[in-house]
Amino acid sequence: MKPSSSTSEAAGGAGVAGQPCILCCAITGSLPTKANNPAVPITVSEQVESSHAAVEAGATIIHAHVRNDDETPSSDPEKFALLKEGLEKHCPGVIVQFSTGGRSGAGKARGGMLPLGPDMASLSVGSNNFPTRVYENPPDLVEWLAGEMRTYDIMPEVEAFDLSHILKAIEMHAQGKIPRGLYVQFVMGVRNAMPADKAVFDFYVETMRTRAPGAPWCAAGIGAAQIVVNEWAIAAGGHTRAGLEDNVRLDRDTLAPSNAALIRRAADLCAKYERPVATVAEARAILGLRPVAA
Ligand SMILES: [Zn+2]
Repeated sequence: MKPSSSTSEAAGGAGVAGQPCILCCAITGSLPTKANNPAVPITVSEQVESSHAAVEAGATIIHAHVRNDDETPSSDPEKFALLKEGLEKHCPGVIVQFSTGGRSGAGKARGGMLPLGPDMASLSVGSNNFPTRVYENPPDLVEWLAGEMRTYDIMPEVEAFDLSHILKAIEMHAQGKIPRGLYVQFVMGVRNAMPADKAVFDFYVETMRTRAPGAPWCAAGIGAAQIVVNEWAIAAGGHTRAGLEDNVRLDRDTLAPSNAALIRRAADLCAKYERPVATVAEARAILGLRPVAA
């Protein structure tokens, strides 16, 4: 039987009702600037403040890049350390996920913050095109990043920009190269990569269900596709990501006032499908992360 995908079916309770949904907030990214949307948090203190509001709106994972003061991307481990400290202090129990994506540095600099031991880190396992360049993830770098995550006991979130990335993640998991558990995020709507296509999305879900039964997965859409992919993921029993990294607008004419506003929109969709928004404790249990300290 195919996983449910139609709204009426899922809303009617086709097996997803009651299942907690993990909301991840991608707070900053490496591209959007205050010129695109003044709500994009740039400094570490802005990032902590924006995360705190997003957590109050339902986010349990904070996916973060860091920036220099001039808004350019940074891979400075010291900034990551300050951010981790601020998040742990002001958002107790929240799952800290650092980006090892290629826009924030090159080669091994992309994993320079992993010794800080965040709960999670993003991991790309293959290459594809981005809007203006190649997103290069050569096999030796992928192996090195995964090895660092094993060394520091960090759970990867595999960013799948393509079907081959999902299959690669499943293969790496079977080979024992993915520490903790397999968690794949489908990313759709990046220009020149996989568009937000429902038939492809359904095939991704089916691929996870048949080849990695029981493994949790999530999905993110870029730009106007954010809300669309949020709804597909929630309806199909997955987890989902929102935030200003991926999308700075509520609609064509309206800038999102905050990361929290985008998380709230996803939380409203959870309510539509009768899925509770996961608490920090639930999100940690679903992902197999250590429980929150009592
Ligand atoms: Zn990111």
